[in-house]
Amino acid sequence: MPFSYERAMQELLAEKAKLIEQLGRLDTTASDDIGHSNHMADDATEAFEQTVGVALHRTVVDSLEEVERALAKLDDGTYGICESCGARIDRARLKALPHVLYCFECQSRRESQAPRSSRR
Ligand SMILES: [Zn+2]
Repeated sequence: MPFSYERAMQELLAEKAKLIEQLGRLDTTASDDIGHSNHMADDATEAFEQTVGVALHRTVVDSLEEVERALAKLDDGTYGICESCGARIDRARLKALPHVLYCFECQSRRESQAPRSSRR
């Protein structure tokens, strides 16, 4: 099947719905954790689970932001253009990953830099 904007939009909307649902489930778990933390977790396992939950939550929020940005770009006609260098993103790449915001080169460059910039 060839690449089409309608198909990309459908996939992005489906992805967005899935992420929102996932986030809803994580939020329920997170508010449970807040209730427990009043007593201070002396249990290392509980603290660990909380950390994993927060990291997962962060990942889902990040993905949701990417999907929303891709949808906004479909709206304003800049979809498929690399946010970093302005080159057209390969159609095969867009078909496989409809939410990508960068061309392959910029993405690999960002990923190789990410561990340094995201760690504080
Ligand atoms: Zn680029």
